Amino acid sequence: MVAAAPADDGQVRSWLAELGIPGLVDIHTHFLPPRVLRKVWAYFDQARVHYGVDWPIRYRHAEVTRLQVLRDLGVTTFAPLVYPHKPGMAAWLTEWAVDFGNRTPGAVPTATMYPEPGSAESLRAAVEAGARCVKVHVQVGGFDPRDPLLDESWGVLAEAGVPAVVHCGHGPLPGSYTGLDVFGEVLARHPRLVAVLAHAGMPEYESALELVSRYPGVHMDTTMVGVEYTERLAPLPRDWAARLADIGDRIVLGTDFPNIPYPYAEQLAAIVGWANADDRLGALFLRAVLHDTPGKLLRTRS
Ligand SMILES: [Zn+2]
Repeated sequence: MVAAAPADDGQVRSWLAELGIPGLVDIHTHFLPPRVLRKVWAYFDQARVHYGVDWPIRYRHAEVTRLQVLRDLGVTTFAPLVYPHKPGMAAWLTEWAVDFGNRTPGAVPTATMYPEPGSAESLRAAVEAGARCVKVHVQVGGFDPRDPLLDESWGVLAEAGVPAVVHCGHGPLPGSYTGLDVFGEVLARHPRLVAVLAHAGMPEYESALELVSRYPGVHMDTTMVGVEYTERLAPLPRDWAARLADIGDRIVLGTDFPNIPYPYAEQLAAIVGWANADDRLGALFLRAVLHDTPGKLLRTRS
């Protein structure tokens, strides 16, 4: 066994120190303009109506407190992701996210995209302004990732090597164009894209594993994967840990902080469980997932 998992958030920092891991790099968190965040939280308050289960947001705090929670957890770098649910939002959300990333210690500038005229120009400007990660939310956005209006944008990202965290799986609800087969067509057209399959493609874990093995730039994030809350709804394949043995350098820490219905440490415990379940994973896997690989994607220097 590599290590026991941290029992709660308060133990995470000393746990990292014991393992010699310099800090957590979280590629999938959410920070939004206050007005938008209030709407997102109001949606989660109605989770029973939308998803059929309650979703009490664990870290429903003022922004300054949320940033302090991340620091206290030993998160040294994080990608604060934004995403539009309708046209006319992507450009100003991106402007906000680039500014937020530039003025917030630990945060990296990020961007988002939506199929509408001018989307490639706005994305290119964001990348030139330093955006180091892009969120593409196929489910909430309700758009087709193969839309010709996005084709140039995918090209911009592939060219720049900027990772796109893509929520293209059917969970928690199927969208009009969710499905890893649909996103697979984008990859077939842009095979050099550095893509991070959000939630490891939940619930299509098998298809996610397949895309990772087919395309060297495809990764998976751990967001909500393997925790008790989601195991009830979308359980991992029984041989999950073994399946990661050959692709251990393509898994990156993601959490959905602050919008999760359980403590952050539970996500870490799930990852520790995989590391311990297969001898080929172990301590090297843990360090790669929690720090090295997401750090490489986000081009951090620590
Ligand atoms: Zn998310």
